[in-house]
Amino acid sequence: MNILAIGAHPDDIECRMGGILWLYAKRGDEITLCVATNGNSGSGIHDNKKEVGEIRYREMQASADMLGAELIWMDKDDEFLFDTEETRLLMIDAVRQARPDVIFAPPYMSDYNPDHDMTGYLAYIARINASIHLIKTNHPPTDKIPPLFMCTPSGLSYTTYIPDHFVDITSVWEKKVALAQCHESQYKHHSVSSMVYKLTKKFEAENRYYASQCGTPEVEFVEAFMNQRTYPMVVEAYKYLP
Ligand SMILES: [Zn+2]
Repeated sequence: MNILAIGAHPDDIECRMGGILWLYAKRGDEITLCVATNGNSGSGIHDNKKEVGEIRYREMQASADMLGAELIWMDKDDEFLFDTEETRLLMIDAVRQARPDVIFAPPYMSDYNPDHDMTGYLAYIARINASIHLIKTNHPPTDKIPPLFMCTPSGLSYTTYIPDHFVDITSVWEKKVALAQCHESQYKHHSVSSMVYKLTKKFEAENRYYASQCGTPEVEFVEAFMNQRTYPMVVEAYKYLP
């Protein structure tokens, strides 16, 4: 299968869905990561946004290489991702390039960071529009409309996110942490140290929490997903999960 994982910033994909991606990778599926912004505001020690963007690109590429995935780098300005004709076409072209059987993206439901919501919204639009042949981009239209699973938002306690699919990632837990740690700058150079200090601790708590909701004692870590309820629904969408 072809898997497309979409995130707003370098490190979002790893923290929200790094586990499920390792499960796909282990069974030999083709994975494409699409990152909408270049993360060039994500530093507390650099004054040069271009330099930060380059650091974050290198970290993201290292993560993609570790996973054995292709990287699509949309390179939009961090914290300024908008719904424009250009960003819609970029996201449509990303879907066409990946030709996914299943898409993962953030939910667009009042997360703390507007880039997260906007990325989810652009992915939601591109899922269908990638198949429309009169919309022209660099890659040819897709021939099917895949299921879209929304990963957990960054803030679980203040959104209406209610997951309906639960994936045991216990067997790849260490690999998920290693993937997130490719983003070294986010541990060392972030302006809000209390946010990034907790980066792995935060998703560890979330993944343990979802495991606790599953009633299976041997399952320690779970990533949760919410099937996007929209036209056209995909019959038995759960079959696209690993
Ligand atoms: Zn983010």
